[in-house]
Parts: sequence; C-alpha cells; structure tokens
Amino acid sequence: MEEQLKGLVSEITRFSTKDGPGIRTTVFLKGCFLRCRWCSNPETFTCEKMLFYIPARCKECGRCEQACPKGAISSDYQSPQRIDRALCDRCMKCVDTCMYHAFSCSGTEYTVDDIVRILERDAPFYGDEGGLTVSGGEPMFQGRFLKELFHESKSRGFNNILDTCGYGDTELLKSILPDVDMALLDLKAMDPELHRRWTGVSNEVILKNAEIITSSVKTRVSIPLIPGANDSVENIEATASFAKEHGVEWVDINPLHKLGAGKYGYLGLESPYDGFPDLPEEKVQEVVSIFERYGLNTTVGRMM
Ligand code: SF4
Ligand code: SF4
Repeated sequence: MEEQLKGLVSEITRFSTKDGPGIRTTVFLKGCFLRCRWCSNPETFTCEKMLFYIPARCKECGRCEQACPKGAISSDYQSPQRIDRALCDRCMKCVDTCMYHAFSCSGTEYTVDDIVRILERDAPFYGDEGGLTVSGGEPMFQGRFLKELFHESKSRGFNNILDTCGYGDTELLKSILPDVDMALLDLKAMDPELHRRWTGVSNEVILKNAEIITSSVKTRVSIPLIPGANDSVENIEATASFAKEHGVEWVDINPLHKLGAGKYGYLGLESPYDGFPDLPEEKVQEVVSIFERYGLNTTVGRMM
C-alpha cells in the first residue's frame, strides 16, 4: 500500500473564532518562504522539528544531559543557550526524558486522514459558516499536502479557508483554489524593495498570486501594522487601492504585538522586537480611516 503523504504541523487550534467566519479548526503548517522581522511564530520558519527549552520549568535534575546522545546539553540550567544547537540532531530524547516538560518539540506529522478525523469530531460545532482554516508559516510551503488536505476536506463538505501571504508556486496555487471557499491574504508591503527589506523576499510573486486569488475566491486582506516598517500613508494607500481594485470588501488590521518574544528565547534565537517602537493608537485609527476612505470595511486585530 502506498504510504500517505504527511504534513508537518506546528499546532492545531480547535474551536477558533479568529481564523475566519464561524467556529473553525485551524491547522498551522510548518515552513515559510518569508522571514518577516516581526514574526510571532518563529517555530514555523522551517519545515522541520524544532526544540523548545523553557528554563523556568527546569528542576535541575540533570537527566536530560545524560540522555542526550550528542552531548549537546550543558548544566547551565537557567540559560536559554543551554543547548548547543549545532550539535543537536533533534532526536527529542530530552523531550521524552524531562518529567517537567522543560523541553518540548514543535512539529508533529499528520496524514490527511488524521486531520480529517479531527474535522469530523469538530464538525458539530461548525454551524453554517465554520470549518477548516489552514495557516502557517506559509501553507503553500507544503503545497502538495495542502492540496490533498483541502481536496479531502471539501469532498466531505467542509468549508475551507486558506490563510496565506500569497507566496508559492503559482500553478500549484491554481490547482488548490477550486477547493478553497475563502482566502485570508496577508499583504505586508506593496513596494517590492520595502517588502524585501522587511521579509527577505520581493513581493512580485505575491502580487501575481494575489491577482489570481482575488479573482478566484472571496478574499479578506489582512495587514500586519508594523511601526517604521509598513505603516506609512503611502503603503497603506497602496494596499487599500490594491484591495479595492480587486473586489476585496474587508481589511483586517493586525497591529504589532510582541507575544512571540518568549518563543524566540525558547528556541535559542534572539528576540527581534527590541528594535520596534510601540504603535500609538492614533496611528491605528489613521490607518483605519484610510481604508475606510477607500470604501473598505475594517477590523482591528483579526476579529471576524
Ligand atoms: S530533565 Fe528537565 S528538569 Fe531535569 S535538568 Fe533536564 S530540563 Fe531540567
Ligand atoms: S533533541 Fe536530542 S540531540 Fe538535541 S538536545 Fe535533545 S537529546 Fe540532545
């Protein structure tokens, strides 16, 4: 029997009310093409298992040091840099060994059938509008798995939402969209150089794919509002203009938050947030009024 394709998932949130209309099951796939400097989900950067270490949970028993076959764990218990990540091969023996859950693994393999079983359990709560949302990372990073998942979900009658930054293989995207009911399209910056500076890639592919997405399925645009990065009047107006021209009715504005700061430390990464000033409320209101001037409905903080 042919082995089923597996997807690497960082998290599955059940009964979510923030990832599209209705009550939804949200699958966060690992892997992303972008490296947005404000990202609050660094565990989704790569499509591989990642090791979290939370020093505050450690009771200093030393068992993990003995269990690690690579000698990658020091006895500097309270240091976020306790693990030599160059030596670590992510065998996750430390996760199994620690009784206090100081170690954990981000990244679980699921088949499409595994996820469909979860959808079937959650289905009684979906009502008319709810269903499956696939987010990330960037879901298109695992595009083949995404396609199979949406196809199977749709064939069972579930409502599918794609939460995407728009980056990914255009032909694959076109083949996925017939099974998508709605897209949540994150537009981070309209100028290609600005986009490259803050996310690591130009937005040429994104804008091309955004045309295809908006002409194929109902689309809500979202914009992370990052002070000093993409909050200029010029960028907001360009985003509003693009949304309006492409038949979008709603824009979800997501002001910068720093809730992901702890995760960077647990992964042994430096927090990126020190360089970002706080976002004044007046700025958020200014952005809201620009979108409204273009005839767009807005929400602040992904509320549906
Ligand atoms: S096994 Fe857990 S509690 Fe013991 S030293 Fe390692 S991290 Fe700390
Ligand atoms: S995942 Fe394996 S190699 Fe890495 S620190 Fe834990 S026990 Fe060592």
